[in-house]
Amino acid sequence: MIMDDRISRDDLLHFVFKPSRYLGGEVNAVRKDHRTCRLSVALAFPDTYEVGMSHLGLQILYELLNNRDGIIAERAYAPWPDLEELLRRHAIPLATLESGTPLRDFDLVGFSLQYELSFTNVLTMLELGGIPRRRTDRRDGDPLVIAGGPCCFNPAPMSAFIDAFVIGEGEEVSGELATVMMREKDRGSGREKLLAALAELPGIYVPAVHTRGEKIRKRVVADLNAWTLPVRPLAPLMKTIHDRAVLEIARGCTRGCRFCQAGMVWRPVRERQPGILREMADQMLAATGQEELSLLSLSSGDYTCIETLLPLLMDRYYARRIALALPSLRVETLSRNLIEAIRRVRKTSFTLAPEAGTQRLRNVINKGNTEADLLATSAQVFAAGWRGVKLYFMIGLPGEEEADLEGIATLAHQVLRTGRKRGEVTVSLSTFVPKPHTPFQWQRQIGPEETTLRQEFFKSRLRHRQIQIKWHEARMSRLEGLFSRGDETLGDLVELAYRGGCRFDGWSDRFRSEIWDDAIRTLGIDVAANLADRSRNAALPWDHIDAGVERDFLWAEGQKAREEELTPDCRREGCYRCGACDHIEIRPLLAEDGPPEDHGAAATGGPEEMTTESRVDLDVAEARAASPATANNASETGAFGIHLAGPGQPAREDPGQGNGQRLRLRFTKQGRSRHLSHLETAAALTRGIVRGGRRFLFTAGFHPHPRMSFAVATAVGLASEGEYCDVVWERTPDETASLPGEINRFLPEGMMITELVELAPDSPSLTASLRGFQYTATLPPRLNAAALDALEGRIAAFLAAAAFPVTRTVKDRTIIRDIRPLVTDLIMDRTGRRMLMEVRFTNEGAVRPEEILIHALGLDPSLPAVMNLTKTATFFIDK
Ligand code: SF4
Repeated sequence: MIMDDRISRDDLLHFVFKPSRYLGGEVNAVRKDHRTCRLSVALAFPDTYEVGMSHLGLQILYELLNNRDGIIAERAYAPWPDLEELLRRHAIPLATLESGTPLRDFDLVGFSLQYELSFTNVLTMLELGGIPRRRTDRRDGDPLVIAGGPCCFNPAPMSAFIDAFVIGEGEEVSGELATVMMREKDRGSGREKLLAALAELPGIYVPAVHTRGEKIRKRVVADLNAWTLPVRPLAPLMKTIHDRAVLEIARGCTRGCRFCQAGMVWRPVRERQPGILREMADQMLAATGQEELSLLSLSSGDYTCIETLLPLLMDRYYARRIALALPSLRVETLSRNLIEAIRRVRKTSFTLAPEAGTQRLRNVINKGNTEADLLATSAQVFAAGWRGVKLYFMIGLPGEEEADLEGIATLAHQVLRTGRKRGEVTVSLSTFVPKPHTPFQWQRQIGPEETTLRQEFFKSRLRHRQIQIKWHEARMSRLEGLFSRGDETLGDLVELAYRGGCRFDGWSDRFRSEIWDDAIRTLGIDVAANLADRSRNAALPWDHIDAGVERDFLWAEGQKAREEELTPDCRREGCYRCGACDHIEIRPLLAEDGPPEDHGAAATGGPEEMTTESRVDLDVAEARAASPATANNASETGAFGIHLAGPGQPAREDPGQGNGQRLRLRFTKQGRSRHLSHLETAAALTRGIVRGGRRFLFTAGFHPHPRMSFAVATAVGLASEGEYCDVVWERTPDETASLPGEINRFLPEGMMITELVELAPDSPSLTASLRGFQYTATLPPRLNAAALDALEGRIAAFLAAAAFPVTRTVKDRTIIRDIRPLVTDLIMDRTGRRMLMEVRFTNEGAVRPEEILIHALGLDPSLPAVMNLTKTATFFIDK
């Protein structure tokens, strides 16, 4: 086949699902010259681009490292199996998005370990990147492989593959680590010396150096106000899990839910000041043109100044139609104005997280919210106009009894009744996974069979056409539990499952239970023993990791759970000495409406009633991606999106609607941008226009969107010298002539506005004016004279034919279309080795250029993709 020996990395993108995952070139992506940098870092995320790009921690490190002279930081994400197969087949190494540099050529490759079921993807990325999988097989000259993220609080299962683990928060230690690496590199130190030097850094665990007796204390940023968030964050070109600017308002949580690892390991609570947040939000939105801003924390409703910050941001961004996402916002914290704003916008599903079915069990887990809270909240939510409420529960919690399962069913029906017959309820059930560094770390996890029995129970108890049940796959939970509390021997399991073909195990449609089972059998791993209760004195694989909260405190909390006794929130009731704070440097910091100030451990404010948190429709991937302090048990993060509306401002009216300027834009879509889908192209153009200082006029209705229309949908993979789009934005005194340059600065590589013309109000639409297109294709160099003669013959035959029916598949339907009348000219330029095609546009559409090349000219179907197909002209009726 022609493509076999000459395909490039870029060519592969024609053959994969979602090529925009691999484009790079996002707004604010950093390009540096490798030759001028002393240290090169590849930030690797072992999941898809959509998940990884939504992760704030990676964005923080990307900006922090690139802000330093002499350091270059680039990114790589796990390739989907279609690309993996192509990379292997063509022996092309996995490389970074920014420069296409293979991972093996970096000094340091840093993985973000957010979720146990992404472990096999780490091995995929190492192997495809040309790096030995096992750390003991790496030599001088191989990159140093480090990892950070919540999974590192038990580094044992991945310690065969990772050279050094970062325990805790990365802001400070990433800089220290880079400094040590540069110093050792300058000294010409070998691998052994480098690892020894890194092991000296607080918060770094180096399996090859540290003995099990040495404690590694997690790193904590004392005051978040001293660390700005990325104010020029990467704005993705494709739809990601969280396609929005992220404003981390606080880190840490003091509620003390006993199942929640994030709530324990990211203590103490540290809030950013509202004034600083406002400035950062302004900069982020200006730098990205994004349409949504997320106020992120483990419990947004607990942010001290939420009542100040929300209206402030609402007033600020309403006119720009910037929506707000509020993770884990407790409903009773909503002001009347905010509820009114929510009432006006789209109402999808609203998630409430009681976690357990009875008050007794909620006390056991220290959730503390009451049934009355939940029912009052659901009534309020339905009354505000939501049609559906999603209830999130865990099954298999310590101390669970049959009455607790009955309680879940009862609660679901009670919540449904608060909807006054119009509502719908979705019950989402996940299996409790005991996590390290929590009070439940010694508890057993139920097995898949027990999970299935419970699922059957709910199927019979929740038979109602307005109640839906969803659950996590029991075998995935079992594996998550195995790795969460597993030891070093599990490295063999990860590797064996990887070699068996396991990839993207956190994706239920990719999870290969039979391969994992085979590997477990082969290695003789006793899963039941791993998931069983552990005694107080049992050695735990993570004993050498000091996450702040003390083991005795955790044990005592476990005992209180048995007694069904609550532990209050330390920000309200005072410090109970969990161990996270030294009260000198590390202590809770709460926000004030004035300059930053330390509130001390026993922070002010009277006891506040604990209530159910509200969330909307997050899946596990979304929860994984949410925060550097990502929740485990997939339950502590949530969001609902509202379009901001300030007090008294109707959300559906459009300010300035009568002052519109209608323009026609001609723009290019070349280079890597040719792989953008139509929606991605539209989003990139919209953001570029917003960042270039224009304010769109919006359509009316519940879902207002910018007034923008395209001649035709832009095709994925087809380059274009001229696409057309009509826009309506607010008229300004600026000269239109200077605008393209202002906007082009903010468009991705390969996209550029080349013409901008103001239209008369009565001008016909783009579609009504369209007559046809011209395409050119480059002929492959290996087509010899005889092949070119044959092509000329086929061109002549095609042009002479009265009809030329081809079969086309449209949305799983096969249709036959006569393409001959749609082709107005077909010319081969032998000297320039180009094919030129002119086609007619009709109300039924047009012929695609690759259809001409494959069907009329008989070229190999794989060939058009690599022939540099380009739309070179668009013809209008009046031209
Ligand atoms: S040490 Fe005290 S103030 Fe700090 S997180 Fe623990 S309980 Fe709260």
